[in-house]
Amino acid sequence: MPSFPIRRLAATTAAAALVLTALATAPAQAASPPAAASAAAPVTTSAASTTAAGAPADLSRDMVTVPAAPLLRARTDDAVSPATGVTTHPVYVSVATVTAATSDDSPTPPDEASIRAAVTQLHDYWWAESGHTVDVTLAGIETRPLGQASCVPATVLNTVHTAAFGGRFAKYAWAGTNEHLIVLSRETCGTTATAFGTVGGDGGEVFSSYGAGSALGVPVLLHEFGHNLGFGHAGAGMCRSTTSFDGAASDYRYATSTDSPAACPVLEYGDFLDIMGYSVSSARPHLSSVQRVRAGFMTDVTTLSGAGTTRQVVVTSLDGTATGRALKVVDPISGQDYYVEYRTATGTDATSAEFGGRAASCAVAAPGFTRCGLTSDRTTGSVRVLRPLTLAGSTVSTVALAVGLDTKRDPSRRDTHLDAGESFTSANGGFTVSVRSMTPSGGAVLDVTLAGAAKQQPVAAPAPASAVATASTLTVDRTRQTYGSPTRITATTRVVTTDGSTPTGTVTLRDGTTTVGSARVGTDGRAAVTLPATTRSGAHPLRASFVPDTAAQAGSTSAIVTVTVDKASSTSALSTGTTPVKRNAAANVTVTVASPGVARPEGVVTVSAGGTVLGSTRLTSASGGRVSVPVSSFTRAGVYALTASYAGTDDVSASVSKRMIVVVR
Ligand SMILES: [Zn+2]
Repeated sequence: MPSFPIRRLAATTAAAALVLTALATAPAQAASPPAAASAAAPVTTSAASTTAAGAPADLSRDMVTVPAAPLLRARTDDAVSPATGVTTHPVYVSVATVTAATSDDSPTPPDEASIRAAVTQLHDYWWAESGHTVDVTLAGIETRPLGQASCVPATVLNTVHTAAFGGRFAKYAWAGTNEHLIVLSRETCGTTATAFGTVGGDGGEVFSSYGAGSALGVPVLLHEFGHNLGFGHAGAGMCRSTTSFDGAASDYRYATSTDSPAACPVLEYGDFLDIMGYSVSSARPHLSSVQRVRAGFMTDVTTLSGAGTTRQVVVTSLDGTATGRALKVVDPISGQDYYVEYRTATGTDATSAEFGGRAASCAVAAPGFTRCGLTSDRTTGSVRVLRPLTLAGSTVSTVALAVGLDTKRDPSRRDTHLDAGESFTSANGGFTVSVRSMTPSGGAVLDVTLAGAAKQQPVAAPAPASAVATASTLTVDRTRQTYGSPTRITATTRVVTTDGSTPTGTVTLRDGTTTVGSARVGTDGRAAVTLPATTRSGAHPLRASFVPDTAAQAGSTSAIVTVTVDKASSTSALSTGTTPVKRNAAANVTVTVASPGVARPEGVVTVSAGGTVLGSTRLTSASGGRVSVPVSSFTRAGVYALTASYAGTDDVSASVSKRMIVVVR
């Protein structure tokens, strides 16, 4: 199979720069009015403005999808386990001399000394961020003259990765090896420099034309290497509401999304306190607590969950040595995870543009709504509320929420942090976090209240006067399960009697008004019911009722505990059908849809090429996940990249296949 992801990049856009180059690129984004550029101007750097001069970069695509999806470890919050042991990540650097001329070399082309220094810094940064589990080593440097007429980034990576270092990176052979190929061009490669990297797969490839300089070249490599480790982008989101500063997960979408306007548009790289946000010259902020905890790089996190929980929590500086460096709150209403972290102008975070001490820098997030960043106070630091969200493809992105009011208390102008005295309430009042105080030495003192139980005390059912009263308490071993997954939610009800006698009877678990199941109460006073794997996706309000065997004990009903069933993931694959694709002839292709735990996925599959739909067929339960799709005939010879998309169902997520290259003769 050809190396589709790279080709995909080439086919869509060659300009895949992620580098902020000082928000000077912002005017290129349709959603950003000119005001954003002037307001952001203070972060311009010399390196950036040089590279950004002339043509604005396309910031939208620097993540290259890795083909072998099974290699990617699924990370769900319920399954996070600490990374253990040291994994060596050998880095092979290939310096491409793309064109024969030296006149188009960048001002600071990479040389061996700068490459060695850059890989050392790559090691030091990720060694620290990973909790000393990612050990980057320099495995080799080579120089490769390509003799190409011009420097086209995707073409360069495509050419180099087939031959570099004896072909050890050809055909994604690196996947699963933790080996990385970094291709640095001597040329700027276009009017602005470009960088991109593969996402996940235990190894990877990076292309950068930013060189190996410590000011900008290294921050770019740190970011792209983060993609190799599986991390998505760090963005900033602002909900278009002056009363609720948060929304459902589906309310958050990239501002560049062509769907209907999002309720909470997200600027994809807009988190300046995260290496996976914009690359800013000389800035090397930490990876957020969200990504570090989810990756198992950091276990120093306080988790609050359970309706009715009220706690005061001290969150210490993410850059510091004190314990308690992150707070995770599981929203009792939505089941969604939120992270609260405290970032201070210390260590590597001190380099962040956010602590740059520059004038207020704000951008219009949507008409009438202005999000401000780069303004956190160096003396107090910054309390941030972040959410891990899947905004594009399957990679989890992080979103720093615009939660804080500015000095004018105008809810349409908000900061991406909370100041002392401010508070944030999640969508539908799930939980509230209030900042009591924050000092870099003492940490941020937070009051956290989760909605629920206080209003939902167990209700005792009417009982004969002589009956012993009982109370039922319902707990779940996890708050989420995935449709079809064997990992299911077990709901345990504990029944207690007021006189200490053993409760005797049966507990029935209901989901709304539907009975899930029943179980006898054991001698320990507990009864457990496990939800079926076929429980439909969505929120499920669970409630348990104890029905005693005799009138000697009274019945009781628990408070509601809401759990969430997530859609099953799916993967789509496209292969040649029984009739080949030829010019002016009927043809078909085969689409296979797989979903873990779902033997016979249903739904519509659509085959398209370059945005044109070629054919569409419905998968039925009889299809067994495999269907032949007739495609309209091609009238012109040429090379076509076909993809299949599966629309999903209420219980199964949509997916898109890798590209299949078809040569029509
Ligand atoms: Zn990126």
